[in-house]
Amino acid sequence: KEKLTKTRQGFVDKVERIFTGATKIDEDLYEELEEALIQSDVGISTSMELVENLRKKVKERKIADPLLLNEVLKENIVELLGEKIELKLNDSGTTVYLVVGVNGVGKTTTLGKLARHFRNEGKSVLLAAGDTFRAAAIEQLEAWGQRAGVDVIKQSEGADPAAVTFDALQAAKARKTDILLVDTAGRLHNKVNLMKELTKMKRVVEREIPSAPHEVLLILDATTGQNAIQQVRIFQEAAEVTGIILTKLDGTAKGGVILGIQGEARVPVKMIGIGEGLEDLKPFEPDQFAEALFG
Ligand code: GDP
Repeated sequence: KEKLTKTRQGFVDKVERIFTGATKIDEDLYEELEEALIQSDVGISTSMELVENLRKKVKERKIADPLLLNEVLKENIVELLGEKIELKLNDSGTTVYLVVGVNGVGKTTTLGKLARHFRNEGKSVLLAAGDTFRAAAIEQLEAWGQRAGVDVIKQSEGADPAAVTFDALQAAKARKTDILLVDTAGRLHNKVNLMKELTKMKRVVEREIPSAPHEVLLILDATTGQNAIQQVRIFQEAAEVTGIILTKLDGTAKGGVILGIQGEARVPVKMIGIGEGLEDLKPFEPDQFAEALFG
């Protein structure tokens, strides 16, 4: 919670200043609030939606004191964020996640953290080096595998990612591995290729384990603000994303982007990255997040 201090400062200070600085609830106040939300990376349509809901509740409840708006806004944010949604697991056999995202967002680090997360729960884990485009990506994944204490299934640079995925599935089946985490390439310059590659990997997974992939997890960097929302749209087209892991929430005042993602993309944020270390991955708790936002 203390790691979200920057988000809290960026978001709530702005909002609270508006509420405490106003003498009455009027159009100017609503406009200022909408502006502040947009500046906090909540996104235009989600900001408008939040303000619209606030306006409705103020009317219904005949609220006149601006100082009471804080609570109502918080209520709207809790509603927007919805219930906590856990990572989906296979109840019989290996659970398979495809992990997607643009280079630099923290995908490799998050794969290491996820591996450790499941190891901490006593599960066996395998990583698959499905980003075969760069040798460095394979090496980095191996380094994280070592740190997390799990094996990495790999081929050489330039290998077919679907073939690596197939190998990893065979290994996971033979070893009765609980969790298989498959890395994918993060090049966005060619959307058609990206889509083809992900579709092919997914098909291999489905053929071997019909209920899989159990999640397609999109890794997003919270510090990129609105770009993150853009990336959700692109990857949703390419791969039917089922959940989001938002990284670098420790280093940003832009945690408001979570609201934008939930409001505009309707894909649940399932976990958050709050540091560079192996243990710095936490389940996303909507209630706690809303509480943290409002101090
Ligand atoms: P990839 O290219 O997407 O695989 O990105 P990396 O996993 O190599 O991470 C890129 C940089 O982001 C590295 O310096 C990581 O240490 C850093 N990073 C990843 N996750 C987090 C996080 O949650 N918080 C912070 N502060 N840094 C992170």
